[in-house]
Amino acid sequence: MIAYCGLNCFKCDAYLATQQDSDSKREETAQKWSRLYRVEIKPEQINCDGCKSDGRRFFHCNMCDIRRCCISKEVDNCAVCEDYICETLSGFIKLAPEAGKALEKLRS
Ligand code: SF4
Ligand code: SF4
Repeated sequence: MIAYCGLNCFKCDAYLATQQDSDSKREETAQKWSRLYRVEIKPEQINCDGCKSDGRRFFHCNMCDIRRCCISKEVDNCAVCEDYICETLSGFIKLAPEAGKALEKLRS
């Protein structure tokens, strides 16, 4: 499941913790992401069925500008956007190069 931004939700720690319903993985992911993103993330916030699912979504992904932009433009992901690579996406790719690689692959 490739998210709008190019991240692979199937490989995401929050997705895996949720699908395995593992509280220890939620705890581990919350600690890791709190350190990484320098915000307090609680284990109970680690619940996500993926960027494009109708189910639960991690709050940060719910508020994501890229996600909102893709939905408003009615594109499947940034790879098929006429404004690829915009400034917002470019900033994100610097933080998550794997998403950029996935989008490039989708475009080729
Ligand atoms: S939408 Fe959910 S599964 Fe996808 S990257 Fe965000 S937190 Fe992970
Ligand atoms: S404008 Fe940027 S964030 Fe929006 S869909 Fe296009 S590439 Fe993605």
